[in-house]
Amino acid sequence: MGAFAAKLLNEDMSIERYACQFKSLQVEQIFLQSKFAQDKKIAQFLCCIIALVTTLVTFFDKMIIQASYWPDIALTGRTIMVSVCVLSAFGLSYIKTIQLFRLVISVFMLFLFLNMQFMAITYERFYILHMFFDVIILITFYFSTLVSIKLSVFLSISYSALAISVIYFNKDISSHSLYMVILAHVAANLAGMIMAAHEHIIRRELFVRNTQLAQLAHEMKTQALKDSLTQLPNRRAFDNAFPEYQRLTQQQQGESKQVCVILADIDYFKRVNDTHGHEVGDVVLQRFSAFLTHSLRTSDDVYRFGGEEFVIVLPLCSVPDATVIINSMISRLNSEMCEVGELSLPIRASFGLTVMREEEQKSVISRADAALYQAKDAGRNQLVIKL
Ligand code: GH3
Ligand code: MG
Ligand code: MG
Repeated sequence: MGAFAAKLLNEDMSIERYACQFKSLQVEQIFLQSKFAQDKKIAQFLCCIIALVTTLVTFFDKMIIQASYWPDIALTGRTIMVSVCVLSAFGLSYIKTIQLFRLVISVFMLFLFLNMQFMAITYERFYILHMFFDVIILITFYFSTLVSIKLSVFLSISYSALAISVIYFNKDISSHSLYMVILAHVAANLAGMIMAAHEHIIRRELFVRNTQLAQLAHEMKTQALKDSLTQLPNRRAFDNAFPEYQRLTQQQQGESKQVCVILADIDYFKRVNDTHGHEVGDVVLQRFSAFLTHSLRTSDDVYRFGGEEFVIVLPLCSVPDATVIINSMISRLNSEMCEVGELSLPIRASFGLTVMREEEQKSVISRADAALYQAKDAGRNQLVIKL
């Protein structure tokens, strides 16, 4: 998420408040993708609720069973509604793209709205109580934020117009009741729109905050594991990677290739500092780090362990191969000079090599350190192996 968040933060993450979506279409797509799985669950849940309520109403509401118009058609319509809801609840699991999901939800809402109004035509003459369901469905639909706010508003207002027309033209209703119906629809749409706009914006703002937090956490983690002078992973990074080296060691048990651990230490580094100053010492440390990194394979790791001490890990490497690698590094160090400004400094280093044992804790470092100590004792600028 961290690297991904960094990439995302370079995009324009401002929100177009009027449309209730991100100005950048790419960011909007990524945002929708991030809530896709949750949206699917919400949609499935709503489908199940509609199916359940429709079934209950069909069985217990005499107005429907004894509908004044076309009772058979009313029941068929209900059955189709329940079937479509159940099928949608299952089918939504197989939808893999947001575009298709949004299309299916829009078509489903259109079907639901038309079906509900078709049902309304078949109700008893005075039956306007279904408006209660209209209001709940409108507000739930807005609040779900399953489709864009523009489409929600369009579908909901069209639905209200249709619902009011059905009651006006199809039912024998007093003007007072009609006003109440109109008022209920206007209020439901207004409240729904405000809630939906708020919800759309809040979710996007939360997404931006979470992205920024993820990026910050990633940066902090990266910084905590990196040495600021040499940009090499530090001792904490080694500690973190240690279980992985142990796992490799267990896997390679009995094989010639093992996990070789080498402790490297620059010879007489203090003299560089004392003679040429700390800044020159810093540059030497950076050059030596770059030298180590470039001398190794990409599968090898190098850490700044502290001061002028470095740990090199050669995973899946035999001791003879590791010896060749380190000795060739020593030869190259001996044949090159480190240029710092006008200065040309010889950089030498001593190396202590060991291999990791199964089930061993940090004693591998003590063994490499003992080998390094021997290399220093034996005159420096050399490799000592201690298995
Ligand atoms: P040896 O050959 O025995 O390793 O001798 P040495 O002088 O390299 O070792 P010693 O441990 O006496 O000195 C290490 C020096 O490294 C002392 C310390 O000031 C210096 N040092 C440690 N970290 C840094 C750093 O980040 N920058 C600079 N410039 N010097 C550092
Ligand atoms: Mg040293
Ligand atoms: Mg040292």
